Amino acid sequence: MLRHIFKRVPRTEVRISAFNFSSASPAPQTEPDIHCTKILINNEWQKSVSGKTFPTVNPATGSVIAHVEEGGVEDVNKAVQAARHAFQFGSPWRRLDASERGRLLNRLADLIERDRNYLASLETLDNGKPFLDSYHVDLDLVLKVFRYYAGFADKISGKTLTVDGNYFSYTRHEPVGVCGQIIPWNFPLLMQAWKLAPALAAGNTVVLKPAEQTPLSALYVGQLIREAGFPPGVVNIVPGYGPSAGGSIAKHMEVDKLAFTGSTEVGKIVMKEAAESNLKRITLELGGKSPNIIFQDADMDNAIQSSHLGLFFNQGQCCCAGSRIFVEEKIYDQFVEKSAEIAKKRILGNPFDPKTQQGPQIDGEQMNKILDLIESGKSEGAKMLCGGGRHGDQGYFVSPTVFADVKDDMRIANEEIFGPVMQIIKFKTVEELLERANKTMYGLAASLFTKDIDKAMYFSNGLRAGTVWINCYDVFSAQAPFGGFKMSGIGRELGEYGLQAYSEIKTVTMKVPQKNS
Ligand code: NAP
Ligand code: MG
Repeated sequence: MLRHIFKRVPRTEVRISAFNFSSASPAPQTEPDIHCTKILINNEWQKSVSGKTFPTVNPATGSVIAHVEEGGVEDVNKAVQAARHAFQFGSPWRRLDASERGRLLNRLADLIERDRNYLASLETLDNGKPFLDSYHVDLDLVLKVFRYYAGFADKISGKTLTVDGNYFSYTRHEPVGVCGQIIPWNFPLLMQAWKLAPALAAGNTVVLKPAEQTPLSALYVGQLIREAGFPPGVVNIVPGYGPSAGGSIAKHMEVDKLAFTGSTEVGKIVMKEAAESNLKRITLELGGKSPNIIFQDADMDNAIQSSHLGLFFNQGQCCCAGSRIFVEEKIYDQFVEKSAEIAKKRILGNPFDPKTQQGPQIDGEQMNKILDLIESGKSEGAKMLCGGGRHGDQGYFVSPTVFADVKDDMRIANEEIFGPVMQIIKFKTVEELLERANKTMYGLAASLFTKDIDKAMYFSNGLRAGTVWINCYDVFSAQAPFGGFKMSGIGRELGEYGLQAYSEIKTVTMKVPQKNS
């Protein structure tokens, strides 16, 4: 999903898929020590109340890395209580100068940078993404996001208002309170950074649940949060399963705000739970089926390479993957042929190997879901040019797959595949294009490739998506907001807009005496 770093890599180097990073990369720790497997509450590592643990698995091999304490409703209650206590008016956290919150966030970023190699190694072990991507792409933006919001901590200000009458009115942007944050497995450290950094900059306290598949890196950041000197209870991390640990957060009467990233299906569940409990504020970052439009006047080399990365990056496990590629008739055959050619060359294998461009899918369930959708593509009559099945018999690898002649009503053109499967769709005239591109329940991202500025402006204005990339794909910045139209979500993360969900606006009005008595 995230390759803002893309901008700094000369285009000729962005050939087949991975970035050519090897010269500047340290050797990964292929067997990193596992330091943190417990629940973080009040800056203490605790065992689960139930005494249960759950395994976390290396998806490249299927073997268990470690057993992690399984948080449930009682653990969430303890964590929320700690977060509530830390949020009390007059608490050390609430009394802290805003600039000091910024200093703590910067200190946390420095510690993450100190342990960057370890964290990138842990991420690759638990998630399966190529180490060079973990180190250069994910960790790069993690650091930038913490530092960006660190700078914002003492710049979150209200206004003075020109109200009628003899009154002085002003607004204060106050923290919302205890924020529940539920994150997915595709970018574990990054999603943690996107959620924690604005919440803490704005002065909230947090109860965060990492995905069951990838709890390790988020927990290690918990250790760094302690080391950075955040007061107890400000950040609590409860690993566990979705319906139990996640559901307990979503339903909790003492959680003031919920931020969720994951599937649209679960997004609906947590929104209902938020409404039925205490109407907690909610932001959702959900799925996508993003259109990527290639006009015949595009720079073909750029369009092909960017579309390849826009789909295959992170094993295709990106909410914003460009998974419906509309290609104009005149250049269609060339685009299809070249796209299949580079997909066939992708190097799959051990994610710690610097040559590897594609690691495993996150688990067997996701792999089987992808294989099922590939079968549907075949049976519905799409033309498969490469891939089409599992790669090897160890771990959860799926061969890079390219489908051409995809029709708008096929399952593969409508359902989120979340895997390395490309759909190429032909278009003849631009008249019907906007309608076809927008014909989806999702609206997370879109892109278009053209040298015609009028076309670029017309289509970027008409596409119903939270982000539109023109002649590029997956360009992410801490400064630029990201989020969905329609069923891709509610609210925005990143940028100044990302702070809005973490503040309540308070109006204070004071009577002004008319004469000095
Ligand atoms: P998911 O179930 O939506 O998981 C996302 C997060 O929500 C995880 O932390 C999960 O916990 C938690 N969760 C699950 N059920 C919950 C519930 N009832 N109440 C509260 N929290 C709950 O996603 P998934 O099953 O991992 O993946 C399924 C599909 O979702 C993918 O194929 C993909 O289409 C989409 N997805 C989208 C994104 C994205 O970035 N937008 C990320 C991941 C997946 P556990 O992991 O512990 O169950
Ligand atoms: Mg794992």
